[in-house]
Amino acid sequence: MQAINELYPLLVTPAKVVITTHQKPDPDAMGSSLGLYHLLVQLGHQVQVISPTNWAAFLDWMPGSEKVLNYEITIDKSNTIINEADWIFCLDFNALNRLKRMATVVGEAKGQRVLIDHHREPQTEVFAYGVSDVTKSSTCEMMYDFIVKSGHADKLNMDMMQCLYAGLIGDTGSFRFASASASVFEIVADFKRRGLEHTSIHENIYDNFLENRFRFIGHVLSNRLEIDYQLNTALIWVTKQDLLRYQIKTGDTEGLVNYPLGIQGIKLACIVIDRDEKRKWSFRSKGDFDCNTFARTHFNGGGHFNAAGGETDDSLDTTLKHFKEVIHNYKSQLETF
Ligand code: 5GP
Ligand code: MN
Repeated sequence: MQAINELYPLLVTPAKVVITTHQKPDPDAMGSSLGLYHLLVQLGHQVQVISPTNWAAFLDWMPGSEKVLNYEITIDKSNTIINEADWIFCLDFNALNRLKRMATVVGEAKGQRVLIDHHREPQTEVFAYGVSDVTKSSTCEMMYDFIVKSGHADKLNMDMMQCLYAGLIGDTGSFRFASASASVFEIVADFKRRGLEHTSIHENIYDNFLENRFRFIGHVLSNRLEIDYQLNTALIWVTKQDLLRYQIKTGDTEGLVNYPLGIQGIKLACIVIDRDEKRKWSFRSKGDFDCNTFARTHFNGGGHFNAAGGETDDSLDTTLKHFKEVIHNYKSQLETF
């Protein structure tokens, strides 16, 4: 993988560009994709953002989201666009398997793949150019750097700032995580000086759910939360029936894993959701518990040090049993705060 700055001079030649991101895009994934989209359109490129799957409705306010293709329902059209692309930007993920059913076509396409990402252990050999930096708060922060360092700060318009700001707040827990560095606040200051109204972006993302989601959270916190105070670990499980009963849609379970971290002494919070195809795990920790390694070792996943995810084909019962077995191996790390 060549350094990303090698790519900057090549950006001036109009090309066919695909931008993609991880399945079930979150604010950082969608925000960085659309931030780049709005830049490349201004530079005269022919650009298409393609998401491997659908996304949460609370992202639909993002300028340009209406033009994003959901691969799962546009397979033929998307395959044609991917096969014809000169460049394929891969944002906010670092291994092709995170593209799900889109992985093969992106892996075999003739276009040059470009990585911009902040997750651990990137699959660098599949990218022609890129930047991978786990110290960055978000891919949106990296996209801001990309725009400025490639000499296009003058193209930073309101659409781009709204999209990028969403990713900054999404991945820093609204600026509370350690990853919210001075550079992050400098970006926000730059956006504010350029006229960004930030309050409505928080409202669009966090105050945009239906009543059923809160009834669901009430049910889950009452009936699906187990705490092991010896291991300082909280576990939430969500059954298929729970999802059906409360009419839970993509995005409604986002953030649920964080609730138990608000309980005194809890160091690790875990959730498993019995989705249609797979059982999907999320892990969040405080301090020195490495969620990335845990997810990678036991749940076919990965992510960041304090936030990671994984998935399994096992049944809900089987994967819960597996979790309860392996978690005891981490007793010494978890029992001390
Ligand atoms: P979440 O728990 O919110 O789905 O994801 C937390 C972090 O872990 C995100 O940065 C996400 O990209 C990453 N992540 C979530 N699920 C997986 C997975 O199955 N595999 C890998 N490699 N990363 C994941
Ligand atoms: Mn991210």
